[in-house]
Formats: sequence, C-alpha cells, structure tokens
Amino acid sequence: MKSIQSHSHSLISNDNCPVCYQSSQRLFQKHGYWIRHCQACKHHFAEVTTSPVHVNQVYSEEYFYGGGAGYSNYLTEAKILRKRGQWYGRLLSRYTQPGTVLDVGAAAGFILQGLIDCGWQGKGIEPNPDMVNYACTHLGLSVDVGTLEQLQVEERYDLINMIQVLGHFFDIRQALQVASLHTKPGGFWLIETSSRESFTARILGNNWHMYSPPSVLHWFSPSGLQQLAGQFGFYEIARGRPAKWILGSHAKSVLRYKLGSSSIGKNFTEIINIIPDHLPLPYPAEDLFWVLFQKRNSTTTTKEGKKG
Ligand SMILES: [Zn+2]
Repeated sequence: MKSIQSHSHSLISNDNCPVCYQSSQRLFQKHGYWIRHCQACKHHFAEVTTSPVHVNQVYSEEYFYGGGAGYSNYLTEAKILRKRGQWYGRLLSRYTQPGTVLDVGAAAGFILQGLIDCGWQGKGIEPNPDMVNYACTHLGLSVDVGTLEQLQVEERYDLINMIQVLGHFFDIRQALQVASLHTKPGGFWLIETSSRESFTARILGNNWHMYSPPSVLHWFSPSGLQQLAGQFGFYEIARGRPAKWILGSHAKSVLRYKLGSSSIGKNFTEIINIIPDHLPLPYPAEDLFWVLFQKRNSTTTTKEGKKG
C-alpha cells in the first residue's frame, strides 16, 4: 500500500474547528491534553497534533488485550459484536436493500460479519494487523490493514459503515472526504458515536468517560455531525439510539479503570469482582447515537475530483 504524503492537511490546527473552521478556546485538560470548544458550532475536539503514527499507538495490542480503556479481551466479545452487526443490518433493511459495504475500523470483523449475515457483501479496513489477521484467517473476511484517510482502492460502496470510529480520526475532514469519494451516489453512511449533548455527558461534565484523548479526539452532537456530513454532500435520513450489550469482563475492566486507585474505588472493586466475566450486561448507551446519512444524487458534489 502506498502512503499518502498529505502532511499539509493531515495536521489538525490547534485553534480552528475542524467542523466549521471558526476559532475555538480551551475548555479543560484531560490526560494531559486540552479539550477545545468551538465558539460557533460548539464542537469539542482535542488539541493534539496528530499523524498516522497516532493510530498505531492507540490501537496497539494493549488497547485490545491490555484492559484499561480498551477491551480486556476483545475476542470474547465476538458474539455480542456480531449481534450488534445483525442489529444494524436489520435497521438498514428499513431504508435500503443490502449491497456493498466498507466497514471502517473493522477490528476483528465481527460487526462486518453481522452485516454479511443480513445480506451485505463487505470488506473492511482496520489499522491493527493482528485484528486483520484474525478477520481474514478465522472469519474468512476481506479486511485490509489501513486507515480510511489512506485508502487507495477505487471501488465505490453502497454503504460506508463507521461504528465508533469517527471520534478517533486524526484528520476527520480528510477521512470524510475519502469516505464521500468511495460512496456511490445515493449511497449511505452509517455512523455510531457518542453525544456530548446526552444527559450522561452533561451530568458527568469533564468526567464523562468518553473524554479520553488521545484515543478519542472528537466529541459530536447530532446537529454538529449533521452539519459536518452536509459539507460532504450527505443528509440525515434517520437517527436513533443503539441497543448495546457488553460482557461482564469488559464492564469490570472499564469500571476498574474509571475508579482507579481511590479508596472508594477499592471498595467498589471487591463488589465488581462478583460480576461473572461472561454475563452479558446492558450498557447505559444513553450517550450513544447512530445516524444514517444518504449521499445526494446531485452532480454538484465532487465526482471525479480525486486529488492526484
Ligand atoms: Zn465549529
């Protein structure tokens, strides 16, 4: 795979909002990174000079296997993720026939597998080579190592699936530009991300667990996401909240990470240990939302304007 030399626009400005280009100000610090706030559109984003290296660091082995903010053992979640893919497959069937899908940040391929169960023909891209290896050898899926920003293939898809990936993009405009170029006219984007306007986010404020730079770099609201997608020729056709279940082992990992070594945390850790690892638990997904966007058929959007 060729790498794109696009450093001039792969750096996020420290000051200007990536959604509306207006100026922003520092809100608060988290994990040593400033979270900025756009004064015009209210978008929240991390003040990080990011590069493709960032992806490799965040999605390292530790993210998938090391517990902490990642998954205690990602692969044990296979069943749940496949069901989530099927859930989205059923959701999509209300709006379109199954077609071709590109699953961005496909990880080990389970969500993609769920979509394939529902009739979609798909391939995925994923920065972590071990996850890609798993998807290809164990699930027989077509998943390539890479990021959306650096996608080199020429195909166009009926659907670009972006479940829990938007907040991670080191260059969100570049990523969505590429996504748009690879979506057929009339095709779809399915996006799931967290909402900083949710009740949970507003109650927790700076302590909302989704404020976790440098893993997460953007915090959207439904209206902000709509504005951003609109700039790439997409309009919203449906929105809702995802059903989400996680295994006890993952819940425990997240809770231990969040409680840290505080004295309250120590007491809670004993209680948390009672939760069986393989017990599916409802996750309070009040702070998540999904949106289905459709690409305008109009020729006013970039058609063959691919930069050489
Ligand atoms: Zn803005």
